[in-house]
Amino acid sequence: MRHVAVIGSGPAGYYTAEALLKTWGDSVCVDVIDRLPVPYGLIRFGVAPDHQSIKAVYRRYEKVALTANIRFVGNVTVGSDVTVAELRDLYDAVILATGAPNDRPLEIEGGDLPGVIGSAAFVGWYNGHPEFADLDPPLDVSAAAVIGNGNVALDVARILSKTPAEFGGSDIVGHALDSLAGSSIRTIHMLGRRGPHQIAMTPKELGELGHLEDAVPRVDPADFPPQGDDALLEPGMRKSVTHLREFAGMEQGIRSKVVDFDFFAMPVRVEGDGKAERLIVERTRLAEDLRSVGTGETYAIECGLIVSCIGYQTPPIDGVPYEHGRGRFANSEGVIGDGLYCVGWARRGPTGTIGTNRPDGYEVAEKIAADLGDAPSVKQGGLGLDTLLYARGVEPVTFSDWQRIEAAETGRARIGSPREKFATIAEMLGALGR
Ligand code: NAP
Repeated sequence: MRHVAVIGSGPAGYYTAEALLKTWGDSVCVDVIDRLPVPYGLIRFGVAPDHQSIKAVYRRYEKVALTANIRFVGNVTVGSDVTVAELRDLYDAVILATGAPNDRPLEIEGGDLPGVIGSAAFVGWYNGHPEFADLDPPLDVSAAAVIGNGNVALDVARILSKTPAEFGGSDIVGHALDSLAGSSIRTIHMLGRRGPHQIAMTPKELGELGHLEDAVPRVDPADFPPQGDDALLEPGMRKSVTHLREFAGMEQGIRSKVVDFDFFAMPVRVEGDGKAERLIVERTRLAEDLRSVGTGETYAIECGLIVSCIGYQTPPIDGVPYEHGRGRFANSEGVIGDGLYCVGWARRGPTGTIGTNRPDGYEVAEKIAADLGDAPSVKQGGLGLDTLLYARGVEPVTFSDWQRIEAAETGRARIGSPREKFATIAEMLGALGR
């Protein structure tokens, strides 16, 4: 028998557990440990609530989780409840699949004013992440700025633009739905420090902006390079740019909200009297190497909410080597050290689709198999972890506990919604009578 601990129950964690099962079958016991009492990480807390078809991949992870030799060990924080060093003593292999749940900091003057929010917090707030239940973003303002031109910026702009009816069928958390329904925001500025040919948005997601009930995208035709240059783009990017060109011709009509693409716009300062009131932006141009260069010309965008969507970082863990510049664990193709591995965004940084994490899991399973060889395991595995947690008064949440939480969420769902998520740990554990 092999004993493996996977830390993190998001896509990278469950793809890895799946790969370990494929490698060893019944000869491996895998503990998937998560600090929260609920599984699936990015799927539950990152993927937009109105993208249910993407979230449906959790069914695949559920199948893995229900396998006899895979355990979900929720409500256990690695670093405080148990250390990585202790896990390395208990298991043959420890795999960090902790994702990248922290924001890359927006390092500009005034970036710490109330009203300036990182995407991890804002996305976590509307997705029911317990850490952000009390975020209370200012929505009683007429304009918001969303910084970044990636898919997260797109998610945030779309969520700010939708009508309550457009959230039908989503699992947006109740407190966010109520707040958004009363939002006064009418203009959402999407700031890209480069141009339409340098966006990091995928075409399907970008196209959605053109079909909103009460909002319209606006693009300044002057921002585009000559149309002939589109032919040089790779097909996905060309499709995205085609959407942007369509947006440039759209009329607002009777729609009350506008998503205004501000290209060549680099945020330099947030101003306001004790809270964000305006964003000062410098116009940029593209350098030869396609980086953005400031022109010295600035202008102000009046906005009381600023959501910075400029990428994520993996939180460091005590005793684990970390690459600060790239915001991920220091590793060589997933290997951190003897018996310690990483997968997914904790390994590569926050890029790619959910499926991109799958090969990581299979690669690391192969590496572990090669590293361990045929020698029998002398590790205690899950039994040792249970003993240690019991002695520390930590009560883990099992997968069947999670199924009870899930049933309670499903049971109280709004009509048409798959579930009404609990937004605090107290509510989640309350469903278990704790
Ligand atoms: P991302 O794709 O890396 O985009 C980050 C954006 O922030 C870029 O436009 C970047 O511009 C900009 N940026 C970075 N630093 C900046 C700064 N200091 N000032 C201004 N702008 C700055 O990251 P993401 O949007 O967080 O997405 C992470 C991953 O999740 C991506 O792989 C994404 O595709 C995926 N995702 C997918 C979906 C989906 O629905 N399919 C949804 C959400 C996320 P530059 O290009 O100039 O650096």
